[in-house]
Amino acid sequence: MTDQFPILQRQVNSHRLVYLDNAATSLTPEAVVNAIADFYRHHNANVHRGVHSLSQEATTLLEDARRRVAAFINAPSPRHIVFTRGTTEAINLVASSLGQSFEGGDEVIVTAMEHHSNIVPWQLINSRCRVRLRVVPLLPDGSLDMDALDSLFNDSTRLVAVTHVSNVLGTVNPVERITAIAHSHGVPVLVDGAQAVAHRRVDVQAIDCDFYAFSAHKMYGPMGAGVLYGKNLDKLPPYQGGGEMVDKVTMERTTYQNAPLRFEAGTPSVADIVALPAAINWIESVSWEQIHDTEQALLTRATAGLEHVPGLHILGTAPDKDAVLSFVINGTSSYDIGVLLDQQGVAVRTGHHCAEPLMARLGIDGCVRASFAPYNTVDDVDALVNATMRAASMLR
Ligand SMILES: *Cc1c(COP(=O)(O)O)cnc(C)c1O
Repeated sequence: MTDQFPILQRQVNSHRLVYLDNAATSLTPEAVVNAIADFYRHHNANVHRGVHSLSQEATTLLEDARRRVAAFINAPSPRHIVFTRGTTEAINLVASSLGQSFEGGDEVIVTAMEHHSNIVPWQLINSRCRVRLRVVPLLPDGSLDMDALDSLFNDSTRLVAVTHVSNVLGTVNPVERITAIAHSHGVPVLVDGAQAVAHRRVDVQAIDCDFYAFSAHKMYGPMGAGVLYGKNLDKLPPYQGGGEMVDKVTMERTTYQNAPLRFEAGTPSVADIVALPAAINWIESVSWEQIHDTEQALLTRATAGLEHVPGLHILGTAPDKDAVLSFVINGTSSYDIGVLLDQQGVAVRTGHHCAEPLMARLGIDGCVRASFAPYNTVDDVDALVNATMRAASMLR
């Protein structure tokens, strides 16, 4: 499989590259690189505008990608799929659009493990009216305190915004259950799927969420493309204004397209979007079963190996955990460990991982995160463990 990822042939600091930063961005298989190049080589034209053949081809490719993405997450139809630049833009879209109906004193329920991109967009609504965030706390193993969730609802609750999988703890949240509870209170649910879509089959109808957001670049696709699934998009006001999203424009007033085009103002990142099906094909060619088995085996091996490093503490030990392994080592900074690992060719993430409130909750200012993908190997895990062992002995 590694032969489909030429970047894995690279040397880094005179060592074989051991890429364990997949939760920040996954590597891109040849098929995806070729799909991007193929668009620019053979079909490059703007979409939804021209009558000329290339423009029609580009439009067809884009709409094919929408169908493919809809099938990938089992959306009822492509009309529920909005293309964005990524998860961040998808969540900002909902905050800007749905948020227009929020009033002072309204509340959004988030969790203590959210990425900044599922916290800050809700706070931005404060520039118009005061919105309060209510926070689902964590249990010691890094899973959500589901008993506390129910008590956070009241007449002012407007939305639950929750991550499907934590980018730091690896915890897989029970999003079906959360959605059922929220709906019993008449509250819609947004799921941040950025860390989930590359690791498990996502079925938005089974989850029954109202919104589901994810990025192509964390599922072996290109940077610059993302997806917002929405159950009832036609009821929402537009996000950005511009070309493509309009029906009729005069200087006095404008009418808008229906969803999804209403939410796609301006020229989209067409080459990146039309390469997304190649990423989905790659995932399906590997199979969910093999992805799961490979990643869980690597996670288990890495956990067992790292536990032997003196002073090392693993963050997040929930029973249902995806391929993310974060840790701290007493008396060391995550930055120093990251530098020493890089010198040995091992790429990991260090710092607060865009989850500063979670770091505060854990009482740390940062951690080291290794995250796995199906092209990682037992050798990669052993390199991580050995390099961490060495780094720890140098720093302590
Ligand atoms: C990466 C990530 C995001 C942000 O994704 P972008 O591609 O940077 O927009 C949001 N939430 C989680 C859980 C993430 O891991």
